[in-house]
Amino acid sequence: MKHVFPGIGMTSARTRGRMVERLRQQGIRSEEVLAVMANTPRHIFIDEALSHRAYDDVSLPIGQGQTISQPYIVARMVELAIGSANRERVLEVGTGCGYQTVVLAQLFKTVYSVERIAQLLDKARMRLRDLRISNTRLRHGDGFIGVAEAAPFDAIIMAAAPTYVPEALLSQLAIGGRMVFPIGNVDQELRIIERTADAFIETKLEKVRFVPMLPGLA
Ligand code: SAH
Repeated sequence: MKHVFPGIGMTSARTRGRMVERLRQQGIRSEEVLAVMANTPRHIFIDEALSHRAYDDVSLPIGQGQTISQPYIVARMVELAIGSANRERVLEVGTGCGYQTVVLAQLFKTVYSVERIAQLLDKARMRLRDLRISNTRLRHGDGFIGVAEAAPFDAIIMAAAPTYVPEALLSQLAIGGRMVFPIGNVDQELRIIERTADAFIETKLEKVRFVPMLPGLA
C-alpha cells in the first residue's frame, strides 16, 4: 500500500533515487524498505537551512540537541525490524522529527511512537498531519516505560541508546517479535533481541553512534 504524499513535487524524487542507490551499495537488501525510502520526502523533516542536505548520508540536527538518524541507519534498523513474525504493531522509541515514524507507517499496520521532548513531538505531529499519515499514535512519554496498554508489539525500534536493556520493553515484545536497538555509552553497538515462546535471544551487530536514551520527560 503505497502512500501518496500530498503536495510533494517530483523535484526531490531523483535525489531520493540516488540515496536509494547508495543504500543498496551499502548493503541494504530489502526492496520493500528501499521502495518506502524512495517514496518518503525526507527533506520535509529538516529545517529549511539544512534541507539541501536531507538526502546526504549524514545525521542532521533537528533542534533540542537531537539529530535525525542518517538514511543508512534508518534503513538498516527498519530492515531488521520487519524481520519480525507479524507487522501489526510497532513501537518506536524516540520520535524525533518523525521521519522514521513515517517510514514505519508504510510497513506496519499501526505505529506507536514515544518522544520525551514535547517540542519535538509537537513538530512531528504537525508534519504527520500535513503528510496525511493516519496510522500512527504519537505520545509524550518515556521509552524506558514503553506503552503497556498497546502491547504486545511485533517490533520495537529504539532511536536513542540506553546503557542497559529496558525491562519494560522486553515484557511488551510479542512472541515472534523483534527489538532492534543501540546500546552503550561511548562505545555503542546495534543489537537485536528476538522473543520466542520461552526465551529472549540476543544478537550483537555492528558499532553505531546514537544520542543517549534519557529517562523522564522534557
Ligand atoms: N528517529 C528519530 C531520531 C531522533 S534522535 C528521527 O528520525 O528524527 C532520538 C530521539 O530519542 C530524540 O528525539 C530524543 O529526545 C529521544 N529520546 C531519548 N530518550 C528517550 C526516552 N527515554 N523516551 C523517549 N524518547 C527518547
